[in-house]
Amino acid sequence: MTHDADILIVGGGLNGPALALALAKGGLRVALMDAQPLEHLRSDTFDGRAYALALASVRALGALGIWAQIADHAQPILQIKASDGRPGEGIAPFFLQFDHAEIEEGPMGHMIEDRYLRRALLDAMAETPGIQHHPGETVTAQQVTGAGVQVTLASGRMLSARMLVGCDGRNSPTASRAGIARTGWDYGQTALVCAIRHDLPHHGCAHQLFLPAGPLAILPLPGNRASIVWSEETARAEALHHADGATYLAALRPRFGSFLGEIALDGKRFAYPLRLTLANSFIAPRLALVGDAAHGVHPIAGQGLNLGLRDVAALAQVLIEATRRGEDFATQPVLERYQQWRRFDTAVLALGTDLFNRLFSNDNPALRMGRDLGMGIVSALPGLRRHFIREAAGLTGDLPRLMQGRAI
Ligand SMILES: Cc1cc2nc3c(=O)[nH]c(=O)nc-3n(C[C@H](O)[C@H](O)[C@H](O)COP(=O)(O)OP(=O)(O)OC[C@H]3O[C@@H](n4cnc5c(N)ncnc54)[C@H](O)[C@@H]3O)c2cc1C
Repeated sequence: MTHDADILIVGGGLNGPALALALAKGGLRVALMDAQPLEHLRSDTFDGRAYALALASVRALGALGIWAQIADHAQPILQIKASDGRPGEGIAPFFLQFDHAEIEEGPMGHMIEDRYLRRALLDAMAETPGIQHHPGETVTAQQVTGAGVQVTLASGRMLSARMLVGCDGRNSPTASRAGIARTGWDYGQTALVCAIRHDLPHHGCAHQLFLPAGPLAILPLPGNRASIVWSEETARAEALHHADGATYLAALRPRFGSFLGEIALDGKRFAYPLRLTLANSFIAPRLALVGDAAHGVHPIAGQGLNLGLRDVAALAQVLIEATRRGEDFATQPVLERYQQWRRFDTAVLALGTDLFNRLFSNDNPALRMGRDLGMGIVSALPGLRRHFIREAAGLTGDLPRLMQGRAI
C-alpha cells in the first residue's frame, strides 16, 4: 500500500519540527500537522518566552543545521548561581556557584528566545526534501490499520503512514486517543513568565533563587535583558498575572533585590499552571510519544525542552538504524528500544525535579539549614561540582548521536 509519508507527526511546536528534520535527514518521508496557522507559528515579535538549552541540545540543533542560524541571537550561560532567599532579602550571601570554566566543553548552555528557535525550525523544514508541512490542520481522529496508521484532519482530509508520533504537548490528544493514561499531579504553583530589561550587566550568569512559595529563575538574554520564570502559589500567581505591569514589577523587585539595577518589563507576560504529567507508556502499536506529550516536568531545572530534544534524538536514531538494518521500524520490538532508552531516565528526572521543588519551595527552618548545608558541601567539592555542571549541560547518561553533535 502507498502511504502519504513514512511517519506522521502530530504537533509542530518545537519537538515536532526537530523530529521531522532528524527523520528526513535519515531518509524517511514525514508529514507534520499542527493546529496553529503558519503566520502564528512564524510570528517574530518577542513574546517573552525563552529557553535554557543545555550544551547537548545546542549540539543536537547544530547537527540538524539549526544552531548556525540562531547562534547570533543566543546568550551563553557562563555561570549558574543558586541560593536560598526570602522576599525582600534578595540573594542570600551563601550560594552555590557553577562556572563553565570548570569543564572543558565550554558554556553549559545557551538562552534562546522562542521566536528565533521556532522560525529557524520552520524555515529548515521548508527547505528539507521529504517533509510535508500541514499548518492550520487539527488532527481529530487516528486509527491503526493493517498496513499502518491513518489520521483524520478537521478539514476532512485523511493522511496515512506506517507510524504516528505524538508531539502534541502536555494534554496530548494523540496519547488519549491511543488509550495511554497519564500519571501526575498539580503542584499548586503557577509559573509567571516574562522578560525584563535591566540597568546593570548580567555577565552571562543564570540565577536560581529558592523562595518559600517556589523558585525564581533569572536567566540571561542578549543585552541587558533577562528571562524570568517565577513560580508562585497559584492564587497569588493568578492575581499577579492579571494585575497591571507596575503592580507585577513591585512584587517582583523585592524578590531578587537590586543586583541588576532598575528593571522594566520587556514583552508579554505568561502564566503556566504547573503540573507533573508522565505518560504511562511512551509507545503503543505504531505510535510513539515525544516531548511534552510524553512528559511535562516542573520548570525548576529548565529541562523540559532539553528532555524533549533527547527524545527526538533517541527516537530518530532508533528508527533510522532499524531502517538501515532492513527492519520494519514501526514494529513493537523497535519501538520498545525507544521506550527503554527514554522512559526510565525521564521518570527519574521528573521525580527528581518534583522532590527538588518540594525540598526547596518552603520555609521550614530545618529544611533550610539542610539545603544550605547541602549547597555548602557541593561548593566545597570540585569533583561533585563538575558532575552537576556536566549534568546541567546534558552531557551525562547514554547520549544519542545527535546530542553528541554527530549525524545519525
Ligand atoms: C514556565 C516554563 C518555562 C520553561 N522553561 C524551559 C527552559 O528554560 N528550558 C527547557 O528546556 N524547557 C523549558 N520549558 C519546557 C518547554 O517549554 C516545553 O518542554 C516545550 O515547549 C514542549 O514542546 P513540544 O513541542 O513538546 O510541545 P508544545 O510546544 O506544547 O507543542 C505542541 C503542538 O501540538 C499542536 N497540537 C496539539 N493538538 C493538536 C492536534 N489535535 N492537531 C494538530 N496539532 C495539535 C499545538 O498546536 C502545538 O503547536 C519550560 C516550560 C514552562 C511551562
